[in-house]
Amino acid sequence: MNRIRNFCIIAHIDHGKSTLADRLLETTKTISERDLQDQVLDNMDLERERGITIKSHAIQMNYEHGGEMYTLNLIDTPGHVDFAYEVSRSIAACEGALLIVDATQGIQAQTISNLYMAIEHDLEIIPIVNKCDLQSAMPEEVEDQIIDLLGCDRSDILRASGKTGLGVQAILDAIVERVPAPVGDPDAPLQCLIFDSVFNPFRGIIAYYKVVNGTISKGDLVKFMATDTEYDADEVGVLRLDMEPRKSISCGDVGYIISGIKTSKEVKVGDTITHVDRPAENAISGFEEVKPMVFAGVYPIETEDFENLRASLEKLQLNDASLTFQPESSAALGFGFRCGFLGLLHMEIIQERLDREFNMNVISTVPNVSYLVYDKQGHCTEVHNPSGMPDPTLIDHIEEPFIRASIITNTQFIGPIMTLCLGKRGILVKQEYIHGDRVELFYDLPLGEIVIDFYDKLKSISKGYASFDYHLSDFRPSKLVKLDILLNGDTVDALSTLTHFDNAQSFGRRMCEKLKELIPRQQFDIAIQAAIGSKIIARETVKAVRKDVTAKCYGGDISRKRKLLEKQKEGKKKMKQIGTVEVPQKAFLAVLKLD
Ligand code: GDP
Ligand code: MG
Repeated sequence: MNRIRNFCIIAHIDHGKSTLADRLLETTKTISERDLQDQVLDNMDLERERGITIKSHAIQMNYEHGGEMYTLNLIDTPGHVDFAYEVSRSIAACEGALLIVDATQGIQAQTISNLYMAIEHDLEIIPIVNKCDLQSAMPEEVEDQIIDLLGCDRSDILRASGKTGLGVQAILDAIVERVPAPVGDPDAPLQCLIFDSVFNPFRGIIAYYKVVNGTISKGDLVKFMATDTEYDADEVGVLRLDMEPRKSISCGDVGYIISGIKTSKEVKVGDTITHVDRPAENAISGFEEVKPMVFAGVYPIETEDFENLRASLEKLQLNDASLTFQPESSAALGFGFRCGFLGLLHMEIIQERLDREFNMNVISTVPNVSYLVYDKQGHCTEVHNPSGMPDPTLIDHIEEPFIRASIITNTQFIGPIMTLCLGKRGILVKQEYIHGDRVELFYDLPLGEIVIDFYDKLKSISKGYASFDYHLSDFRPSKLVKLDILLNGDTVDALSTLTHFDNAQSFGRRMCEKLKELIPRQQFDIAIQAAIGSKIIARETVKAVRKDVTAKCYGGDISRKRKLLEKQKEGKKKMKQIGTVEVPQKAFLAVLKLD
């Protein structure tokens, strides 16, 4: 145990976590140069392209220091706010953290919130200024920020470049010298903290854990405490580049277990594994059930794809327990599923995977949050879909989720950011100067306003120089109304939204204007109306047109004519027939594009 070091890497997206991790693996010869692919830790295509690590992983290295061989376990953490709970569990499994800050960018909000989490868990922090090879690097300024934040000495900070390999050796030495060895009792009843799990089509679910107390061996009868289910440990081992089976994994170390588990729902991040024969009295504290916070309807474009869509969602759920779905139907869109996601990024990832891995052509509705609706008798229901709102006369009041947001930016952008937050019903809680001209703003904001287009707007008004992080705080009463959209007099349920009473008028008007842009002219006039209850609050008209695409061909070339017709048919696939009106897929996301 004295020669084990467990550490994670805390970094803002793109500050070079994956690149530096590669260098560590290369320097410790955990991977040979021949095997060295860029960013081996991000082993999903999607992650690689997006440069974010969606699921956390772990990898073990050996490193010789002062004549002794050490085992270093790198526990990778996801870098996005949607996955905050997974981050917290990976951090709980470590004794140290590398804090990587890009020398050209400085500290960002995401870095700070994960850093606080690490400090709360008493991790030893090793600060690293990365990308020092770049011309535009400002290592002194970034060091000043780090000193302000951690209260450390300048000499504690390492300078590095994942690109050139500068400082990599020093980082490995610092891990051995500064990160404490894990503590735990090898003779106590078994307690393993699960910090991640993956689905393997041949082996089922593989759970990753740190042994906090005791020893786990192949063949043991084990129990997962939160789900209260028993399994045989068919295989235990350590994670190198591949899984390497071992007879047992002992106290302080990190490993995996394969035990015939079929679906990700059976393995919960944060759960504790113990022995059935000699169980631990308590689970490791900090277990939480993660709950989806953002919901959207997902519908197949072709009705007959409904069962395929179900099968695809089931497959995705095998390795992503935080995705939920249940069948729903919409008068406008037919049969589909209401899916629950951890946040917006998670939703985008799922949509992209449906498209890429399953070739599913889907329409998704405007995302919304979950609301608590109280009736006059004080009874509370959770509503995940605007069209599921009870009749307004039955409602006593509605509560919506609020978040506490942290925004870090340069002082020059404070004005526009405050205007943006105000427009989103934000309440400024406090404002703190960090270093030089950098400021951190704390806001209470309704989550429902964030899921729509907050992040994109924040990025554009700050020219990319604002970082954003949030956590859920509480549910608060709000004056919310349901806004319906009608096309030629028919309500399109998939376009209904819940919006604050004070903003409803302008929101309805902008929705109608946007839909007018997005719905192509057809052979008759199309009336677009916004309504609250039976009251129409805005109206636009798409004028009729006679459109003959083949007219351009001057009668001549028949093959060209056929091509055009085929092209038009292709284009139609992205349209949905609603009553008499053809609505393009992107119209359902119109609300995301309002100016
Ligand atoms: P992550 O999102 O934190 O995992 O960041 P990546 O490791 O994916 O790196 C983000 C980008 O920065 C990539 O284009 C890398 O090639 C680049 N990068 C990473 N480390 C360095 C470095 O030390 N120097 C330079 N010049 N570029 C780097
Ligand atoms: Mg990465």
